[in-house]
Amino acid sequence: MQPPIIPMSLGNMRENRVRSVIVSCSNINCRHEAIVNVDHLPADLAVPSLGLRMRCERCGQRGADVMPNWNERHAQGDGRR
Ligand SMILES: [Zn+2]
Repeated sequence: MQPPIIPMSLGNMRENRVRSVIVSCSNINCRHEAIVNVDHLPADLAVPSLGLRMRCERCGQRGADVMPNWNERHAQGDGRR
């Protein structure tokens, strides 16, 4: 099953038991990726809008692609039901 590509809010994401995002640099020559915990951010924030305030720690590029870290859901789901 593929995760949806539609923009979602942090609140939606948390309902799916995902509490972090994968941020990837929008500079195609860099593509630095980082996993960022977003517990401290408000639930009504849209996930893609997070990228606007991000700055790449490697190349200094402003703006990044952000998506929910679905891997986390699988990690937590194991053995819990
Ligand atoms: Zn970068």
